[in-house]
Amino acid sequence: MSELLVIEKTMCDRCEGEGYLTHPVYQAFYEYLAGIDAQQPAEINAAKEAWWRKNGYDLDDENPPEETYPCTKCQGTGDLWGYVPLHEAMQRQLPGR
Ligand SMILES: [Zn+2]
Repeated sequence: MSELLVIEKTMCDRCEGEGYLTHPVYQAFYEYLAGIDAQQPAEINAAKEAWWRKNGYDLDDENPPEETYPCTKCQGTGDLWGYVPLHEAMQRQLPGR
């Protein structure tokens, strides 16, 4: 006995189809940057360095983590692939569904 299957491609729900994820520390970093009062590039850079140090990254020895990394659920493609029984796929195509 065999069963006919249809290949189904769906958007990855973890990365919402982007193929990458943003390291969570960057959300806090950007919130901090939006709130600082510095105007000059040197002041801004000093504030950035201070923030990273305060959050456990010594910039002399260790760079901040990469801002984005490939999504582990879809291997960076943004798509998930699966199989659907043919009869189920045909039912999904019926009007009103
Ligand atoms: Zn993904």
